Amino acid sequence: MYEKVTPEIIERLRKIVGGGQVLIDEDRIEPYSHDKVIGLRADPEVVVKVSNAGQISELFRLAQREKIPITPRGAGYGLSGGAVPLQGGIVLSVEKMNRILEIDKNNLMATVEPGVITGDIHRAVEAEGLFYPPDPASLDSCTIGGNIAEDAGGPRAVKYGVTRNYICGLEAVLPSGEIISCGGKLVKNVTGYNLIQLLVGSEGTLAVVTKIILRLIPLPKVQIDLLVPFDDFLSAADSVSEIIAHRIVPTTIEFMEQDSLKAVERLLEKQFPFTDAAAQLLIQLDGNRQDSVESEAEVVGQLCFQHGALDVLVAKDRPTRLRLWEARRMIIEALNSESPVNHMEDVVVPRSQIPHLLKGIKKIAADFSLRIVNFGHAGDGNVHVNVLKDRISDESWEDLVPRVTEKIYHLTLSLGGTITGEHGIGCTRRRYLPLALSPSQIDLMRMIKKAFDPNSILNPCKVLP
Ligand SMILES: Cc1cc2nc3c(=O)[nH]c(=O)nc-3n(C[C@H](O)[C@H](O)[C@H](O)COP(=O)(O)OP(=O)(O)OC[C@H]3O[C@@H](n4cnc5c(N)ncnc54)[C@H](O)[C@@H]3O)c2cc1C
Repeated sequence: MYEKVTPEIIERLRKIVGGGQVLIDEDRIEPYSHDKVIGLRADPEVVVKVSNAGQISELFRLAQREKIPITPRGAGYGLSGGAVPLQGGIVLSVEKMNRILEIDKNNLMATVEPGVITGDIHRAVEAEGLFYPPDPASLDSCTIGGNIAEDAGGPRAVKYGVTRNYICGLEAVLPSGEIISCGGKLVKNVTGYNLIQLLVGSEGTLAVVTKIILRLIPLPKVQIDLLVPFDDFLSAADSVSEIIAHRIVPTTIEFMEQDSLKAVERLLEKQFPFTDAAAQLLIQLDGNRQDSVESEAEVVGQLCFQHGALDVLVAKDRPTRLRLWEARRMIIEALNSESPVNHMEDVVVPRSQIPHLLKGIKKIAADFSLRIVNFGHAGDGNVHVNVLKDRISDESWEDLVPRVTEKIYHLTLSLGGTITGEHGIGCTRRRYLPLALSPSQIDLMRMIKKAFDPNSILNPCKVLP
């Protein structure tokens, strides 16, 4: 269905973006052949580093004429294979489009290019007393364009929501090559169908985002973190439900099982508090008044004690708070180093169902005699379920993974949840989409894809089964 990239096409690409921005050597394109999904890779025929929307537009017109697929790429930190060029063709990297164009303090908005690293946006706006809340754990590596494509979440989603809640305007290039500009520095806007929200979370399958207007809020003045150990995972899970039921909405409620923290200790060769406990909650509260944040922290601490907490470590100063978060942010890397072959799921359930989800996953682990380590954003019902290969033979592992995955999905769906909370469908979950969505929903999605990209040039073999 697709054609190959010929030397003539490479020459035309060089004319569009400049010779140095077109990579064809094997060792230089290798980093663009995978994201962070273990064991998944496909080489592009060429990598093109673009600098502006005009170049992307020309690239699309060329790709349409020559029937070459294009896969957009931010930092390649995705966890569902979205940036992997399964059909070869062109990887379109936005890494050079990395400018923060404006921080508008009058309108509380920032305008940025898609290749800006999310953590750089945090630092730039915080220096102005402003706050961009979405905080994927990968924030020092991933791009805002990738966050928009995946509708990335993060620990602070419990209180502040996810990426889509902060996007007021987008410029994007359609697969036809046309450049569209949606929204603006507007807090309200109901003019027509909401194309911004259609593009957010579309996983790079409908258009390439080239400029973003982000909504900012004032930076909270006070933050307190609590690290709470429990001697069994259910007490920790019950505490999560109890805190929410008490109408307290902390900034974060992160759940970490003992195995995940022990893996971080081994990787970093240093000790963290309470790692002999079966599970820990890392709870953050924020606000503008010290006394009110402290009194909420007090209530949360008491609720945890009522549900079997062994201790409550309170961190009020920045260095102590950062130390508590260091372990949480390193869990994925640590589990990868512990068991280089593993399989991660990203299920999400209503928050009150977290204890049932965790109990069900323990049973699946026991039934299949597997080591499954859970951690994640328990405060918004989103648990990362890590199935470790350890010493299982390659053959048994290949057979086990799909069976265990389906079990986890059926459990999640039976609890009113769904199969991915923030990592996306990409190519790793697309065969399971019919478990979670009806045929009519999938047909509607196909029609939307066709309206944007009738020749399926943009990021083929993603999302739709
Ligand atoms: C250690 C670790 C921790 C993580 N923690 C979190 C977390 O807490 N929360 C969370 O939500 N995710 C998390 N992730 C997943 C990942 O970081 C996010 O999905 C992130 O948004 C990916 O951004 P990226 O720039 O790396 O995108 P890439 O991996 O490069 O691309 C992801 C998708 O976006 C598309 N895309 C990229 N740029 C554009 C663009 N400009 N226009 C259109 N499409 C585009 C690609 O085609 C692809 O489909 C984590 C990943 C790792 C490895």
